[in-house]
Amino acid sequence: MSASPSVQAVARVAYLASDSIFSSDAALPSISPFVTALNALSSTAHAPISVQRIPFGGDSGAMLLSSHRDRSSLSLGSPNGTTVNLTSYLTLSHSHILHHLLPHLPELVYTPTVLHVAISTFPEDDLADILVLRAALPFCIYSRSAQDAHDNALLASRLARTERRTVLHVFHVGTAEEHAEFIDEESIKPYLFAERVSLNRFNETGEAKSVSAAKVEDESDALVSAYDAAALATASLLQRPVQAVTTSGAYAPRTVLFTLGSLSSDINVEDTAIVELSLLKPLSPTRITAAIPSSARYILVCEQVRRWSIKWTPLYLEVVSALQADNRDEQPRVRSVLLGDATTVTAEDVRSLVVRTSTEGQDGKKVRLTLGALPLTEGAHGTIRSEEAKFASAQHVHIPRHEASYTTLLETLFGARLEIANSPSHVYDAAIVSTSPEFTLGRIRGEEDAIQTLERDIKVLLSESTFDGTLHRLLSEWIAVRNAGSRIASGKTKDVRELETNFADRIVAALEEIEAQGGLKSAGAAAVRVYQARALFRAAAALRTRSRWIVGSDAWAYDLGASGLHHAIASGLDVNILLLDSTPYSRRQAHGSRRGKQDVGLYAMNHGDVYVASVAVYASYAQVLQALMEADAFPGPSVVLAYLPYTSEESTALEILKETKMAVDAGYWPLYRWNPAKDHEGSGNECFSLDSDAIKNELQRFLDRQNHLSQLVRARPRMPAELVSGLGEQLKVARRARARKAYEELLTAIDAPPLTVLYASDGGKAEKVAKRLAMRAKMRGLSASVAAMDTVKLEDIAKEPIVLWVTSVAGQGEFPQNGRAMVKALNAAVARKERPLEAVKFSVFAMGDTHYWPRPEDAHYYNKAGKDLDARLESLGAQRVIPLGLGDDQDADGPETGYRLWEPQVWKALGVDEIQVQEAEPEPITNEHIKVASQYLRGTIKEGLEDTSTGALAPSDTQLTKFHGIYQQDDRDIRDERAAQGAEPAYSFMIRVRMPGGVCRPDQWLLMDQIADEHGCGTFKITTRQTFQFHGVIKGHLKPAIQDINRALLDTLAACGDVNRNVIVSAIPSLTKLHAQVYAFAKRVSEHLLPRTTAYHEIWLDKKLVAGDALKDIEPLYGEFYLPRKFKVAVAVPPTNDVDIFANDVGFIAIVGENDELVGFNVTAGGGMGVTHGNKKTYPRAADVLGFCTIEQGVYVAEKIMLVQRDNGNREDRKNARLKYTMDRMGVDVFKAEVEERLGYKLQPARPYAFDRNIDDYGWHIGEDGKHHFTCFIENGRIQDEPGKEFKTALREIAKVHKGAFRCTANQHLLITDIATEDLPQIKALLARYKLDNLSYTGLRLSSSACVAFPTCGLAMAESERYLPILIDKVETICEENGLRNDSIVMRMTGCPNGCARPYLAEVAFVGKAPGTYSMLLGGGYHGERLNKIYRETVTEPEILAILRPMIKQYALERREGEHFGDFVIRAGYIAPTTEGKAWYDKMGGEGQHREVSGSA
Ligand code: SF4
Repeated sequence: MSASPSVQAVARVAYLASDSIFSSDAALPSISPFVTALNALSSTAHAPISVQRIPFGGDSGAMLLSSHRDRSSLSLGSPNGTTVNLTSYLTLSHSHILHHLLPHLPELVYTPTVLHVAISTFPEDDLADILVLRAALPFCIYSRSAQDAHDNALLASRLARTERRTVLHVFHVGTAEEHAEFIDEESIKPYLFAERVSLNRFNETGEAKSVSAAKVEDESDALVSAYDAAALATASLLQRPVQAVTTSGAYAPRTVLFTLGSLSSDINVEDTAIVELSLLKPLSPTRITAAIPSSARYILVCEQVRRWSIKWTPLYLEVVSALQADNRDEQPRVRSVLLGDATTVTAEDVRSLVVRTSTEGQDGKKVRLTLGALPLTEGAHGTIRSEEAKFASAQHVHIPRHEASYTTLLETLFGARLEIANSPSHVYDAAIVSTSPEFTLGRIRGEEDAIQTLERDIKVLLSESTFDGTLHRLLSEWIAVRNAGSRIASGKTKDVRELETNFADRIVAALEEIEAQGGLKSAGAAAVRVYQARALFRAAAALRTRSRWIVGSDAWAYDLGASGLHHAIASGLDVNILLLDSTPYSRRQAHGSRRGKQDVGLYAMNHGDVYVASVAVYASYAQVLQALMEADAFPGPSVVLAYLPYTSEESTALEILKETKMAVDAGYWPLYRWNPAKDHEGSGNECFSLDSDAIKNELQRFLDRQNHLSQLVRARPRMPAELVSGLGEQLKVARRARARKAYEELLTAIDAPPLTVLYASDGGKAEKVAKRLAMRAKMRGLSASVAAMDTVKLEDIAKEPIVLWVTSVAGQGEFPQNGRAMVKALNAAVARKERPLEAVKFSVFAMGDTHYWPRPEDAHYYNKAGKDLDARLESLGAQRVIPLGLGDDQDADGPETGYRLWEPQVWKALGVDEIQVQEAEPEPITNEHIKVASQYLRGTIKEGLEDTSTGALAPSDTQLTKFHGIYQQDDRDIRDERAAQGAEPAYSFMIRVRMPGGVCRPDQWLLMDQIADEHGCGTFKITTRQTFQFHGVIKGHLKPAIQDINRALLDTLAACGDVNRNVIVSAIPSLTKLHAQVYAFAKRVSEHLLPRTTAYHEIWLDKKLVAGDALKDIEPLYGEFYLPRKFKVAVAVPPTNDVDIFANDVGFIAIVGENDELVGFNVTAGGGMGVTHGNKKTYPRAADVLGFCTIEQGVYVAEKIMLVQRDNGNREDRKNARLKYTMDRMGVDVFKAEVEERLGYKLQPARPYAFDRNIDDYGWHIGEDGKHHFTCFIENGRIQDEPGKEFKTALREIAKVHKGAFRCTANQHLLITDIATEDLPQIKALLARYKLDNLSYTGLRLSSSACVAFPTCGLAMAESERYLPILIDKVETICEENGLRNDSIVMRMTGCPNGCARPYLAEVAFVGKAPGTYSMLLGGGYHGERLNKIYRETVTEPEILAILRPMIKQYALERREGEHFGDFVIRAGYIAPTTEGKAWYDKMGGEGQHREVSGSA
């Protein structure tokens, strides 16, 4: 082949632009056209570079990689000092060359390489191999003409250099008549090394988007930007357009031809447009749809792809998929057209194609459309594969054509080496059973055993034989070759095989000669056996290079059963298993089994030394090829799970594509490869490559287990030093040991009696019990598995011999969320009067709380879920092995008391009670382990943020992110729906800002407003800790959001977690000077108690790498365990107790001297709100006053109190870890003495103070300095726009002009402060315009507050923020009826007993228990000085109203002057006062006539 202008152009650019060049030779007798072109260049260029030639079929990928490795240490200098070494590779397209690149692409892809691949002329112009490569590379550029080839070669070189990625440039060799204009040699290097062009990229809709400013949405967006920048640079160099997509022809066409092939650009057909793609990857769907005008009715995708192994071609699938996502009124019909010899296609051919398209199907027939002459050997359906033809000829077995895609691929890759060991072609010789994988495996094993026996006999023969020297030598050499062969690299196997075959032939000839001469018998029994097995010599040689596959397919081979698979894996045979799964994603429920084919992968991976891949040909063609080649190369068993969802042979492309996409995207069918050989190679490569974005939960858990050792290293600093110091090598060894152990365990488990443990659990308690039960079962030798109920199907349960059920109970006897689908299925079966569980033995353990529903009429709710389940199982025929176990929170040891009775009975019933369990149960991982293992709050947060396969972070990291001010949550409104779809919960994060005293400037407010819009759910919340909270921030936005918060000079460090949290301060609008002093004090306390770890800055602000310097961190106050629990500090300025000082761990009550100067603080300690329903070890506590300290002492007093708590707090039980419990355990006096000892002085006696309220001072106030302050009412702190209440907009507009500050209150409202008199009119006008100055609410509403609860708070049991305003609507009517419209009654609500809105200090409070159901509390002090108490344990709205109506009426009639509601209900005998936290449960349930009988504690 001579060097055409295209070849010359590409060779010249490659030569001048690269630092090294490789060129593959063509198949003999042809000569690569690049040879001549490159030779000519090297003789003329000033600085010749070496061109390395690779023989045809050589491993070009390996050579390119090794060149990159060699050159990485060299610097080949560039004009601007950059040292990116560009490698160019030139080759003709040929599958033998290109397929060998595939295994290396994952590594090669991150090197600056251009693969210039030339397409020969018809009939060798098939683009199939190119498209395989394209699938595995980030960039693919296609050139039709010589000029395109020249221009795109430049573009590709620049792109590879700037992006340091591999670029595939495909071009047609073309003809000698073509012409191309070449760029000057001198211009090339400056162009290549010029800075990346900064441009405003226009997105496909024409909207300008600045690349530098815009946030790159994802990887493909970044790739598109990179291409656009390189294209712009190239266009400005060449002064010619360089376009990704070119459209010609009609303006509003009816037909659009997408062409991938060298079709002439002069073709002009009426009503038709021709779209030529130059950029084949990244090819965004919008780029495709932008090329299809709305007038288009037919889309013809013409591809020069005739050797494609699957039914639909790549561009066709992309067009179909792009249109599917495009919301068009009328969808055009898309047809795939096989493009033949494109160079001969005329306008008339296209016209006739268009006519055929619009008339086809009228006679009921649908034919494959073609354009241009096709090669004679290829029919309209493409090449019929011989394997497929063989299968088709088998009478008894029909292979669905879709499934043939995979077997065809095998043939393409391995050709003559391929052996499908259970091919239906064997049906002729061995009946249909020969397609059974088990049968085949037995046959293979037999072959292998026979060869091993032969080897043994030969060794015996060699040791004792009297054969002459020739045969003896031949046999010795044969053995030597076989031994050596196993160590010889795969590339050399052909030579070894030839050598072995040669020996085999000579040995057989020699043996036959001896036998003919009658000398065999005298040589002994071994000689006779060797002679009889002589046929095996050749078979053994043949096996060396065979690619042997067993195919498991629902359609044509019996599926590989669990035992078959186990034997295949355990055999260690070098055999590849291809398991096809055709279950469509949308029908997985109907077909589904939790032991589906996906789980086979996990099982195989657990084995340690098995190659495993999960592939889907319609998701990634290249990945399938890669997996098949790796499986073939792996020296042991390989399992490839292949997905091809279809319902019938008539399933359309769109159906299969959609199903594949859904399955892969949802993580139902993750694409991955697990290659243990990489570990053995010691290459440092990861064994596991995830090829799809989503990852299945089970798979994630497997990987988590793999990472477990590194977690342990962090968690246990005492671990051997070598393991700590050399994670790399040591971990590999450890992992192999672990794999061996897992293997042994699996072997045991497979033979052990099976036991299934199922759980339903909302809070995780029942789940823990179930997992512990399964673990203990394993220790007793049972093959136990554990799962959430909703992850299994009733049909599968019916197959299990023993199932143990553990369930907690939710709400009013309902099932926990993850058991509801199962219960539905059970109920449905009961309704149908079925008895599917007759073969199943079962027992249920139920966990509940007898006191949760204390009224006699509600008693049946106790453990209702478990009781119902027990009864259902019995009605479905299951046999109860032991009676229902009941765990009660109220028992001495909680549910453990009941459990301890139930579990031994289980072991007895299963006959394993006598088994001695020697191994200690592993210690559960607690928050304390997580903290100490986290390297000062790092954990694996950084890695988790980079993991795009899930919207969540690792569970341990979610504990650590709290210290960074971040909580992981999920949208609870749609949790069930997502679970039903098989999708993970809709994870998002809450971010809380650290903002001592709640003060921020207007510019900071504006940034908060923007952050809520850009990263959150569009609203934000002022919290009870006087700060901002953003909800709905998805993982990808976490880091940008935190960075934006820091840009506003605020941060989120320690806003949550076991550290001192945001310090809160009375808002006191009128006392300007005092506020300034206490605010400054609060900031000092906050800064002083701030964690010192640098993890925050590393992870979120990219200040330095997370690894490396981590160990330099020290936490002088906290140490590596931090505090046992959260820690809260507040500063109050009497008479306002708006911060609820007594709810805080430490409080400072400002004491003012004679000159109205701050002189110091009364110090309080031991306040706290959180409670657990029904757990009397938990209670709220109001703080004690310890004494007085000066301003200067205050910071250290806070520190010492915190340190006493750090060292004395309960780290065993987080529910008992807060300072309030520590103080009660130590005693207040002992605690105070310890604090004073650490201080080195005694606190002074407390000074007099008086509070008169804990609600906010709404409205206008004038400070001492004459500045104006306005306190707005923002209901429950939610900053949002609602119809008629556009408060978010209002505050944004105010922030734009405001010169003072904003101050949040701890009651979730907002002050606009420090308004100069001259600015007053403007601010007032804005307040009025948006009705933010409206304070005409009832006293009840103004005194109310609620926590967030649903939908974001993961702990919420009932509504709060969304419900309290509705309840107040009703209660305020009662107040108004009784003339109490303006009377303040402090009413608070929380969605759970954690108490975020401080409900236990309210006069009346509601604490969520279940949806629509609350505990009602009464009797708190009006200014937060006294705890309230439970009045009714379970009330719903009608009951609340029924209780409050007479109570409020009586209050209105009988209250004394100035008497508050909380005091009144005590005086009137509704409830007893709470004297201290420990006495909180005493006398709960009302007093006297108001006592709820069942509520007595
Ligand atoms: S009180 Fe409970 S439901 Fe409300 S925000 Fe706090 S944790 Fe969530």
